[in-house]
Amino acid sequence: MRSTTVGRFAPSPSGRMHLGNVMSALLAWLGAKSGGGRMVLRIEDLDPERSRPEYAAQIEEDLRFLGLDWDEGEGVGGAHGPYLQSRRTRIYEAALDQLSRQGLLYPCYCTRAELHAVTQAPHAGEGRFVYSGRCREIGEVERARLSADRKPAIRLRVPEEEIRFVDGLCGSCAQNLRTECGDFIVRRSDGAFAYQLAVVVDDILMGVTQVVRGRDLLDSTPRQLYIYRLLGAEPPVFYHVPLLLAPDGRRLSKRERDLDMGALRARYSAEEILGKLAWLTGLRDTPGPTDARELAATFSWERVKRENLYLPEALFEA
Ligand code: GLU
Ligand code: ZN
Repeated sequence: MRSTTVGRFAPSPSGRMHLGNVMSALLAWLGAKSGGGRMVLRIEDLDPERSRPEYAAQIEEDLRFLGLDWDEGEGVGGAHGPYLQSRRTRIYEAALDQLSRQGLLYPCYCTRAELHAVTQAPHAGEGRFVYSGRCREIGEVERARLSADRKPAIRLRVPEEEIRFVDGLCGSCAQNLRTECGDFIVRRSDGAFAYQLAVVVDDILMGVTQVVRGRDLLDSTPRQLYIYRLLGAEPPVFYHVPLLLAPDGRRLSKRERDLDMGALRARYSAEEILGKLAWLTGLRDTPGPTDARELAATFSWERVKRENLYLPEALFEA
């Protein structure tokens, strides 16, 4: 057993936090802090088109408003910075070199249109895109020829192997790397590092032992566990928290402006927001106001609901 839990917030600054993000942040904070652990705030701004510094600043301010503080990271500093992924290029390059020395990377010249044509083919994966491995065996001469007019993406070769793990909320999970994930991109053709690589490299270097995040990322976990192994690091424990659904079953998204932190703060105090969320997730029997420290005193993962959560119409009335 490791002595101190290190949890993290890892928001993408592509919009204001909405209720689902707040729920993940609250549970991440409680998961670390209830046992006397530490929290790290890392801003995942790898996608230059969607990330904006003003959103990052707003997320920090909203977390502080909620009383979800962090011990290390953006805004407070620490020994494992920088805490903005866009400033960590050299660190990701070193990790990529490490994978390259193992002979596991190859350039992929497929265009978006070609990949799309494959996914449109009959029986091409149930919902999920699995790369065919088309560029895996291209020889040096052909690579040189293709490189002349296209910049390739870099893919990680995966073995035919089932990756198994136990999620703290979802239980036993398994995925076949070759048939269900496929060789995946670790660096895009525009040079941006892929989330799958960056998140693992950062969690390793920042000493993260507990990853709490939305269930929409459960599918990414086997690929990430494979990277942990290749980099010779012990993986953290994972808790993939339920998704929040609108009363009609739609997923809440950042586009749902009435439930983003701006709209919520105009109507409710931090204690009211936290109280309603704590009730919704099963941590308390009533939705009345509370604060983060009070929740930490009685927190247990046992109490957290495991199924998707439907937001009752009247809980946050417009
Ligand atoms: N940056 C990701 C997001 O905001 C979360 C990554 C993670 O928690 O692993 O969706
Ligand atoms: Zn390809």
